[in-house]
Amino acid sequence: MSYQKALSSAGRFLKENDHFLVINHVSPDGDATGSLLAMGHILSVLGKTFVLANEGVTPEKFLFLPLGNQIVNLSDDILDSQFNKVIALDCGDEKRMGKAVNYMAEDATLLNIDHHQSNDSFGAFNLIRTDACATAEILFDLVKEMGLSLTKDLAMCLYTGILTDTGGFRYSNTDAVVMNKAAELLSAGVEPAVVAERCLETITSSYIRLLQLVFPTLSLEMDGKVASLIITTDAMKESTASLEDMEGIVNYARNIEGVEVGILYKQIDSTTVKVSLRSRSIIDVANIAKAVGGGGHARAAGCTIQGDIKEVQGLVLEKVRQAWVAK
Ligand code: 5GP
Ligand code: MN
Repeated sequence: MSYQKALSSAGRFLKENDHFLVINHVSPDGDATGSLLAMGHILSVLGKTFVLANEGVTPEKFLFLPLGNQIVNLSDDILDSQFNKVIALDCGDEKRMGKAVNYMAEDATLLNIDHHQSNDSFGAFNLIRTDACATAEILFDLVKEMGLSLTKDLAMCLYTGILTDTGGFRYSNTDAVVMNKAAELLSAGVEPAVVAERCLETITSSYIRLLQLVFPTLSLEMDGKVASLIITTDAMKESTASLEDMEGIVNYARNIEGVEVGILYKQIDSTTVKVSLRSRSIIDVANIAKAVGGGGHARAAGCTIQGDIKEVQGLVLEKVRQAWVAK
């Protein structure tokens, strides 16, 4: 189906139904959160009832966004009913919905809106554009398609998704079209310095303490083309860092001159490691993540692997080596 047709089907799905469960992915980021809240604003304008939920935790720094206080964290809270109409946002595959699937009725209709290349169209309706910089950019297109007006509240949520998923308009997913959409969001009232200050600039002291413990773990492999950092459970405890403090640390590895692939290993417990992969320009890290049960984008991907740090490092490095040889 063409993107244009998918936009009009998605618009009809929203207009013709009511009482939606709107969800984003586990460990939501700025795009997942901005998109979730933007959908809340869209449904409000349409006069629909809805619940915004995820398997949290939504980072504190995004909760200034309008409707931010309405997000239900399904790790802590339970909903008392199941939903027939569900909207999944920024979920690269079905598993990324986490505990939210428990609240989908057996015959629920799912609208899947996403921009990950690993998305396998798991919804009844699928609005997917893998060259969109953010799921929020697809929602911008949907707002236009539906002829809705860009209120300041809606624009702030969309802008946050676009700003964070482009790394502050720096990544290769930034182009003139994205900049024009961002400009339109500013015209709708978004104050870019306020959003950037909240979402990109402000750091916590526990983040600095975490960096002090993480930097000594730096190792370079494959003639300096691959850089790895490790966050142990001990480092998390000692620094009192939160999950959101970890965001972005992988970029320190990738940004080192000469490095093509940056890897961050985050020890969840003694047998589970969350891996973040970033590449500069050559290696498709989504393929690597997919080969070990994860997914993502060509330049940013992730997965969670069972094993101790050493085993997981060995496995991931072997996949990176294979990808390198294939180039
Ligand atoms: P991060 O490393 O920041 O957790 O994730 C980078 C990108 O990869 C994000 O777009 C995220 O949605 C995706 N990603 C991270 N972990 C997983 C995973 O376990 N499965 C899938 N399908 N995508 C993931
Ligand atoms: Mn995204």
